[in-house]
Amino acid sequence: TEELIHRTEKLSVVGQLAAGIAHEIRNPLTAIKGFTQLLRKESHNDYFEVMLSELERIEEIVSDLLILAKPQPSKTEKVHIGALIEDTIDLFKSEALLRNVEIHSHIQLTHQCIEGEADKLKQVYINLIKNAIEAMPDGGTIEISAYPENGKIITQIKDSGIGIPDERLSKLGEPFYSTKEQGTGLGLMICNRIIKNHNGKMKIESTAGAGTTIHVCFPSYTHEHKKMKA
Ligand code: ADP
Ligand code: MG
Repeated sequence: TEELIHRTEKLSVVGQLAAGIAHEIRNPLTAIKGFTQLLRKESHNDYFEVMLSELERIEEIVSDLLILAKPQPSKTEKVHIGALIEDTIDLFKSEALLRNVEIHSHIQLTHQCIEGEADKLKQVYINLIKNAIEAMPDGGTIEISAYPENGKIITQIKDSGIGIPDERLSKLGEPFYSTKEQGTGLGLMICNRIIKNHNGKMKIESTAGAGTTIHVCFPSYTHEHKKMKA
């Protein structure tokens, strides 16, 4: 029965996804079609700008969907998680500066590894740091910590942003649930899938108006040599 429940769940997620994709892709397509019809008659530069931004939106949705379609590690390696998080933070240096956000890292990991696929794990921290930055429109601070504990590697991303009201917490991770104008609502769902496939766990703690802390933990490679889920 467990397997059956699992499969039914999968089917409804696929259905939800299909409906969401159709809905999300239709809006930018309608805009582009309209402007293209107008351009048949005369040329306007501002139409091109809208077309370009709508095309970028489609691109974003499609690339998120592609990640979602393949969340499981395609190869497993020993990943130095501390270094991976530091590298990911570096990717956001210029964006953080631009948006008045300070990122402080407290990485207390040296040799510790987890088993999995580096690119997928990086995607998790990219999505979480991006959300943290987007939660602070007037700037703020992000504290990123990582440390070993009881055979696990605990990581936390804490922001001083807008937070999430209790009634919205349960909706997080549903496909296409986004409170942002330009959001795809796929970021947390992707994180969830990748973390599960690495035998990890994610927990969201948030207070509206005060900030959000995302806890992500993985089994440490040295303590656990479980086979990855297929
Ligand atoms: P997106 O970022 O495209 O909206 P996500 O799946 O990454 O999609 O996030 C879904 C929603 O969860 C966001 O729209 C936002 O409302 C909420 N959220 C996620 N992370 C945070 C955070 N750090 N602070 C406040 N809200 C957040
Ligand atoms: Mg996001």
